[in-house]
Amino acid sequence: MGQISVRTISKNWGAFSALKNINLDVREGEFLSILGPSGCGKSTLLRIIAGLEDASSGDIYIAGKQVTNDPVWKRKIGFVFQNFALWPHLTVFRNVSMGLELRKTPKDELYERVMDALRMVQLEALADRLPTQLSGGQQQRVALARAIVLKPDVLLLDEPLSALDKNLRQDMQVELKALQQTLGLTTVFVTHDQEEALSLSDRVVVMNKGVIEQLDTPDAIYNSPVSEYVARFVGEAFFFRGRMEGNGTVHNLRLPDNRLVPVKGNGNMRVGHEGVAFVRPEWVDLSKFEAHFESDAPQGVIERMMFFGQSSDYLVRVEGRQLRVKYRTDGPALKAGDRVALRCTARVLPNEGQAS
Ligand code: ATP
Repeated sequence: MGQISVRTISKNWGAFSALKNINLDVREGEFLSILGPSGCGKSTLLRIIAGLEDASSGDIYIAGKQVTNDPVWKRKIGFVFQNFALWPHLTVFRNVSMGLELRKTPKDELYERVMDALRMVQLEALADRLPTQLSGGQQQRVALARAIVLKPDVLLLDEPLSALDKNLRQDMQVELKALQQTLGLTTVFVTHDQEEALSLSDRVVVMNKGVIEQLDTPDAIYNSPVSEYVARFVGEAFFFRGRMEGNGTVHNLRLPDNRLVPVKGNGNMRVGHEGVAFVRPEWVDLSKFEAHFESDAPQGVIERMMFFGQSSDYLVRVEGRQLRVKYRTDGPALKAGDRVALRCTARVLPNEGQAS
């Protein structure tokens, strides 16, 4: 059992099913992100873990204790919302101390704990300010301090950085991760930003219409997604569809135009069946097509080259669709209109393709 265990949780609003039989274990000290598009059920799941929403069925355990019917204040959680939700008429200090005051914490201990929490988010010098006298990033730090001062068993964050501009957001990501690691806090982080989820997390849950599509490390989510949905959601992908061929060690996808794409996967090669495989822009190599050169490799035509300084992209028309190829430096000497052969090993999507 995890530090947080979600057991067969479902949530219905009338006939609408927002969560369908969710099972999830969050390990102690883990930073786990819940990633998915708007409306997939991320916030609902987080709010059910927090006790801010009742589940229609299923159970929640926190630190080994069944809390399904416990109100939010009985669960040892810290919660940070997207909109900070600070009390505007209270100072930074009182915003952070309020939870301790309500718990009748002795005065000396309260002062120590509040100042410790403010120090951790580098706000001890601003303890007497009002929230309106703070920047967005500082306000979000107060919200974080308010959550950690209660020494929660788990920290739940619902898009806490999405109201911040890009640079500040990146700084706060680094700070948040450092704080989480220093405190060893089990953290669940809801976001629709794939880069944020991949860069911060030990593991990522990708949700789709109320179900968990994949739960894995950021590396596996990016490099070995189980479905087209996950592959698309966490980065740019180009898909090949064809019939799987192979001899047990080497596998290829035979495309409708008879060309061959080498593929790899995790023992899910259904030889003789229809399959789907994908490539990322940085996995593909291009070489100029020579008429005398015999090759089964897929071919394309360069439509455009875009130079970005440290990298350059080639947009290639392949099978009537556009494929982006990324090179770290300025790439091979190719120009628009050139015919090219593609060299790449595509990754099979185990949940796609059909028996035939
Ligand atoms: P976002 O990123 O936009 O916040 P989300 O993935 O967090 O999206 P949820 O807020 O969990 O999505 O909502 C999941 C689904 O449940 C949505 O379709 C939403 O419209 C629906 N929903 C949420 N709250 C209610 C409610 N109180 N009554 C009816 N439907 C609701």
